[in-house]
Amino acid sequence: MNLKPFIDQLDLGIDETYRGDCPVCQGKNTFTATRSVGGIIFNCYKNSCEISGKSARSITLEDITALRSSKTIEAMLFFMSRTIGLVPTPSLTRG
Ligand SMILES: [Zn+2]
Repeated sequence: MNLKPFIDQLDLGIDETYRGDCPVCQGKNTFTATRSVGGIIFNCYKNSCEISGKSARSITLEDITALRSSKTIEAMLFFMSRTIGLVPTPSLTRG
């Protein structure tokens, strides 16, 4: 499943967090997406969900090249962070 359209329509500002039902597993209020300077970090807290943890590869290079200007770099950083497994956990992003 491609989550980019879903995340794009959240229209998050910097440091804003969305929390709601997961678009993949339909889990109730298990999905969060937080926009930081480096990109949007999203996560589902349901253990059985494929987009939980670091395993998700929902944004492809094709998606990145299709992004609008200012979001391109953020998305690239986000993609790279997912690829090399350096996504901060929610507990590390506070403050
Ligand atoms: Zn989920």
